[in-house]
Amino acid sequence: MQARRVSELSALQNEILESVAKGVPFPTVADTLCRRAEALAPGACCTIASIDSGGLIHPVAGPSLPQTYGEAIEGISIGPRVGSCGTAAYLGTPVEVTDIATDPLWEGFTALVLPLGLKACWSSPIKSAEGRVVGTFAFYYRETRGPSDLERQLVDTCVHLCSIAIERDEDSRRLKHLAYHDQLTGLSNRYAFNEHVADNMASPQQSFGLLMLDIDNMKLVNDSMGHSVGDAMIREVGHRLASAGKEITVYRLGGDEFAVICARCSDTENLATLARQLLREMEKPFECDGNFIMLQITIGGVLSKMDGTSADVLRQNADLALYHAKQAARGDYIHFEHGLRTSIQCRTEQIALLDKALDEGRVFAHFQPVICIRRAKIIGVEALARIRTDEGDIISAGAFSLGLSDSKNAFRLTSRMLDQIASNMRAWMDEGLELRHVALNLSTVDFQRGNLEDRLRAPFEAYGVPLRYLQIEVTENVLMNQEVASRVARLREQGMQVALDDFGTGFASLSHLKDFPLDYIKIDKSFIDNMLSDVACGAIVEALISVAQKMQIGIVAEGIESAEQATRLLEIGCPLGQGYHYFRPVDGDTIATLLRSFDDAADQQANVKSSQRKRA
Ligand code: GH3
Ligand code: MG
Repeated sequence: MQARRVSELSALQNEILESVAKGVPFPTVADTLCRRAEALAPGACCTIASIDSGGLIHPVAGPSLPQTYGEAIEGISIGPRVGSCGTAAYLGTPVEVTDIATDPLWEGFTALVLPLGLKACWSSPIKSAEGRVVGTFAFYYRETRGPSDLERQLVDTCVHLCSIAIERDEDSRRLKHLAYHDQLTGLSNRYAFNEHVADNMASPQQSFGLLMLDIDNMKLVNDSMGHSVGDAMIREVGHRLASAGKEITVYRLGGDEFAVICARCSDTENLATLARQLLREMEKPFECDGNFIMLQITIGGVLSKMDGTSADVLRQNADLALYHAKQAARGDYIHFEHGLRTSIQCRTEQIALLDKALDEGRVFAHFQPVICIRRAKIIGVEALARIRTDEGDIISAGAFSLGLSDSKNAFRLTSRMLDQIASNMRAWMDEGLELRHVALNLSTVDFQRGNLEDRLRAPFEAYGVPLRYLQIEVTENVLMNQEVASRVARLREQGMQVALDDFGTGFASLSHLKDFPLDYIKIDKSFIDNMLSDVACGAIVEALISVAQKMQIGIVAEGIESAEQATRLLEIGCPLGQGYHYFRPVDGDTIATLLRSFDDAADQQANVKSSQRKRA
């Protein structure tokens, strides 16, 4: 008898341990354990409950009791007189109640069990390795009685097995939590996000909105205030997002990038409203170690029902919307549009094209003459970047302008152009050819990276060209930045000329002319294109020329393409121009030839005049 008992218990033990080792979920293991225990203890109804860290009871298995019983005790708090299980868990010791109807521990709970015919209950606490009560194992009987010795032996084994199973269950839950959560913010991570998107996409009736967010200028905060402040900032952004509403789930995808899923959202306006709310959440400065830091994020958004046929495409499109927003509307929100795919692809291709050409030394300068309209004489040139292809074709700047949106490319291109400009200028000077300036376009990146003054000076010094020959062209948008404007002013003080390029296409404020010290204004081609056909355009051009004259600022009309335009510009007093009507951009040698031919023509003209004078 004893031997049979030992072998039955050992079979039970092996079966349960094997299930635990295989990672069978705890409720299934608990159910099996109850059924096997009931088979070995005829007449007993077995239950297993877990106790959470707050002391609440959660039934896990009870195969012989109705489900309603489990539901009735779910969430009850353990205590000194809470039936057999609640009390055993509270005291941490087994509790034997041989008559539920009369035992004071069951007072208040008898209505739950007596109607089911249960008359006695013996419960034992299940403890973790460190002694914490994590569950209860109970035998209910349909007669008033206590446990037999065999039953005690059986319960000892079951409680031990339960404690192993619960511990393993907690471990796997902890691991799962680690796998699905981000350590820095406590938010769900990219892994959880990918699963959530895939699950939602798999059920098409679940339409949802997805926002991708990225903190602006994170690197700057890390570099200027240290990584721990950067970490605190990421935590703060995550916290503000997570507190923004119940309908949303927030994920930290990595780095300074977050995602927000908005359940049951199928309307672009609703999604935009949510995005704007999240932007507003960042408005209040974040205080960290006595510093007040401005939080700024950029957001791109998609809707599952219209912006992606699969989870992958939806995520990619949300990324594209964010990427586009970073370029076009930092600190704001942009919803995905299908055209973005091609425009972003285009940008990526142009970045790669320019990067490769710079690596391979295939980027060089062409120069477009700036003309004195009255004398049709070249007085200066504007340098324009070109790429030579492997086949020897020449690509104009317009075909790779998007490549300059990459700051590394923009920086390298300026360096390359400066070297080309200085060496060509040296060659023209050595021939005694006369030019007032060579102009170079600068972008915001040039003012942000490296020491611009040294960068400009070094090649000019190396080729022995005075800096006064360098004219820097900046647009109104670049000058809008106060810091940039004061640096431009410093460059001018060092002898460089400054031209305001594309005037009229940016913020087009005449007050810029008053605020910034300038040598030239360049009227944008769009005004010159329309000045003869559009009265308003003509009036603006005239007014600009007049303002410039009165302020003693030089003025250049860009993009002159016809003799009529040139004649009109001369009539209204515009001294300088450039455009295809005169010359297309050409290489440095051609500029030299043009300058020489003008000098020769001028010499001939001078000779004719002097012989006419002599004859007279
Ligand atoms: P942008 O304005 O264009 O978004 O540029 P950014 O400076 O924010 O930089 P970007 O988004 O391109 O890259 C994220 C940066 O965040 C890169 C890294 O220096 C920083 N970063 C990534 N993970 C962490 C982190 O866990 N803690 C901290 N402090 N910084 C991080
Ligand atoms: Mg960022």
